Amino acid sequence: MDRDHQWSSTSYIKAYPLVVSHGRGAMLEDLDGNRYLDFMAGIAVASTGYAHPKVVAAISDAAGRFQHLCGTDFYSESMAVLMERLATLGPGRSKKRVFLTNSGTEAVEGAIKLVRSSTRRSDLIAFQGAFHGRSYGGMSLTSSKAKQRAHFGPFLPGVHHVPYPNPYRLETGGRDAGAFVLDLIRNDLFKRHLSPDDVAAVFVEPMQGEGGYVIPPAGFLAGLRELCDQHGILLVFDEIQTGAGRTGKMWAAEHAGVEPDVLLTAKGLGSGLPIGAIIAKESVMKWEAGSHGSTFGGNPVCCAAALATLDLLEGGLMDNARTMGEWLLTGLKGLQGRHEVIGDVRGLGLFIGIELVEDRRTKAPAKALAHELEQRLFQKGLLVLQCGESVLRMAPPLIIDEGDVDTALQVFDECLSETTR
Ligand code: PLP
Repeated sequence: MDRDHQWSSTSYIKAYPLVVSHGRGAMLEDLDGNRYLDFMAGIAVASTGYAHPKVVAAISDAAGRFQHLCGTDFYSESMAVLMERLATLGPGRSKKRVFLTNSGTEAVEGAIKLVRSSTRRSDLIAFQGAFHGRSYGGMSLTSSKAKQRAHFGPFLPGVHHVPYPNPYRLETGGRDAGAFVLDLIRNDLFKRHLSPDDVAAVFVEPMQGEGGYVIPPAGFLAGLRELCDQHGILLVFDEIQTGAGRTGKMWAAEHAGVEPDVLLTAKGLGSGLPIGAIIAKESVMKWEAGSHGSTFGGNPVCCAAALATLDLLEGGLMDNARTMGEWLLTGLKGLQGRHEVIGDVRGLGLFIGIELVEDRRTKAPAKALAHELEQRLFQKGLLVLQCGESVLRMAPPLIIDEGDVDTALQVFDECLSETTR
């Protein structure tokens, strides 16, 4: 840790003093031999857990053959197979095409170019609380924490932020949060500020991640689809955190039964190896040869990891995420009944947020408590991570079992009692 502090970029923050030696399944062990039950999975990445034998075998086999051949300019079998697999797994019936990236941000950045070139329009709509990455395009769409944008401007022009339909927090005068936001876009934004004809796309997280693990009300995404169709606007789902099985289905879009024009994935797709994808309708992904590329995107070792991950997700892990998620959510709702500081518990599959408040009536975010609880949980061997203002997220590897869920609930209960005593 001392060496890290001496040499690392000062922009890094560390959630807690954990130095990992190795991992197995959902457990991590630090250099001192302490073991941790990991309910954050390197920020929703280690989907198949640590050192899954099938993923390790796929990676070793691919690495033993060749490690690189720029996929933009040359063919490789695993890249073609992965693109075919992702295109056919993409939600909805339309034929899709795929561009492979090294990260979530790179997928967002490519998608901004794609929607602009496809529509020949410039403007973009995104949501307050959204996180879409750290590059200029990604940052321009992001509206999560002011610190992430401070002193970095100017950003992309023509980006318009509207409220995210957060059912717990958005003041709507009793109206459905989704209908409220759609109405705001239709009757305020499009009437007073912005011609819909100038809008290339709406970028939305179908469930907000960094913004606090927020699930929008039923019907919102379908309403957004309708609004986009009405004005020839493309709909982009950023599923970088929600995708690859995390919510119990391959894509969060499937819960809403909505087909976006473009879907972005990364994080859990490669079980920790850096790979992401832009999955777009064929009618949209028609940019000219040479107009977009990437040296490392579609790296054969990463493609092998992604293919092995998809096999495991479809071979039972998505079902497990659904079952374990329900178990965990029920347990957490039980804890909410006994701990006043839990204002809200929400989630789908293993994408679960626990919002801590000072007072249930005012819903004032209990920021200090969220931090203290996160640190205490770490001390007791359970890894979780904050998001939003005062939310603790649980996003474990999708391989966890009942014993892991019960352990996590017990430790969470103990730490809550100790912190609020
Ligand atoms: N989009 C969403 C929804 C994310 O959660 C993240 C990362 O947290 C990103 C984009 C950026 O992805 P990456 O950190 O892989 O560049």
